[in-house]
Amino acid sequence: MRTTELIEIDLQGEQVFFPSEILGKYNQPGPRYTSYPTAPEWSDSFGEDEWQAAIEETIASRAPISLYVHLPFCQSLCLFCGCNVVISKKGEEISAPYLSRLKKEIDWLGARLDPSRRIEQMHWGGGTPTYLTAEQIEELFARLASRFKFADDAEIGIEIEPRTTSEEQCRTLRRLGFNRISMGVQDFDPLVQKTINRIQPYEMTKAVFDECRNLGFDSINIDLIYGLPHQTVEGFTQTVEKILLLNPDRIALFSYAHVPWLKKQQGSFAKHLPQGFEKFRIFRRAIEQLTEAGYRYIGMDHFARPNDELCHAQDDRTLTRNFQGYTTKAGCDLYGLGVSAISSLENVYAQNWRELPSYYEAIDQDRLPVMRGLRITPEDKLRRAIINRILCHGFLPKAEIEQEFGIEFDERFAPELDRLRELEQDQLVRLDREAITVTTLGRIFMRNVAMIFDARLNRTDQARRQTFSRTL
Ligand code: SF4
Repeated sequence: MRTTELIEIDLQGEQVFFPSEILGKYNQPGPRYTSYPTAPEWSDSFGEDEWQAAIEETIASRAPISLYVHLPFCQSLCLFCGCNVVISKKGEEISAPYLSRLKKEIDWLGARLDPSRRIEQMHWGGGTPTYLTAEQIEELFARLASRFKFADDAEIGIEIEPRTTSEEQCRTLRRLGFNRISMGVQDFDPLVQKTINRIQPYEMTKAVFDECRNLGFDSINIDLIYGLPHQTVEGFTQTVEKILLLNPDRIALFSYAHVPWLKKQQGSFAKHLPQGFEKFRIFRRAIEQLTEAGYRYIGMDHFARPNDELCHAQDDRTLTRNFQGYTTKAGCDLYGLGVSAISSLENVYAQNWRELPSYYEAIDQDRLPVMRGLRITPEDKLRRAIINRILCHGFLPKAEIEQEFGIEFDERFAPELDRLRELEQDQLVRLDREAITVTTLGRIFMRNVAMIFDARLNRTDQARRQTFSRTL
């Protein structure tokens, strides 16, 4: 029989104690809410016609634009990876045909949107965007710049891979106007790196990091993952110490999502994953190190320096979430370009084909490469606004929702408030007449609090729920 342990966590200077059962109770499969409704709710019956109509609806829109460009290629497979990637060492032989289709998609979208609308944010993600040569990066950027107008202070970001990114690529990115870099590290422990097939020593990462700092990028983010095979509290503590020496502006501390039924390669190291409470202990130690070093815990998996825009946006309640996680660019229409890319407009979500052959076929036949999507109902918008406030601010003033949606909160959400009482007893939330407040402990389980308001998840059968990663 397992005995109860009293667990302590020091978060942003506040010490919290809770019984160990809480971990088992709330560490359940659940969405990350980069959208609401979440992607499994989108429909294959939403296709080209629906997406075309949605874009036409936004033609008169004055909303600024956010562009996401997906570049799916990687040199080798990191065994933990859950992204949509194409592994190949063929270089330009495989990237050139992709870029020719991507440019066609860029031209199509550029011709439809009002040219006076400005790009406030652009992000290149992958895969490994720096799989492209410096010349290809330059050409792709030129194509985008010829079809869209960037705001003077546009946030232009890219994910780079320290193992394969050259000085020339970094210099090219900076010269073109990229001002934000995000680089994956995951863990510096050699045994962990060997097991996940990603050998990336600290010195190599530091060299690329320093190069980016010297080039004057405004912001550098580092991604870490806890819960990887062979990880220990001691080993990961050392990784975080090394990251703190680099002093990045933002840190994303992701929970490893073990989904071998979706990503078969993950099955190879299942027996080496941290067991029992060990994964939580790794996470707890990392949170404590980062907050003691002065980073603010924004929520879920994100940390930022106090002078970072994410903190300002959280303070003035303009922070929001999109497919890249937390963002300060609320109110933008997000258009995704490339294979598997996701778009998010006020009333619609849409996703492109996930496999290259289907994506190529659609573009070659002058069709839109959309695979699935969803038109958002007024009920979805109401719940999205609530979930967003919980995850971004940990604070939900009922009056805000009542004014925006013309409802009486307590009456409309009586069943949800009822279910929240159990979370209140477990000290995850505080329920007052005017507001719902996520407590310090509840911030670790924010997804569980948000899930209470997810009407679609609550209708979902258990088998489908299991497809989500666990909340811790
Ligand atoms: S480089 Fe990044 S995207 Fe590519 S396989 Fe590794 S983790 Fe996945």
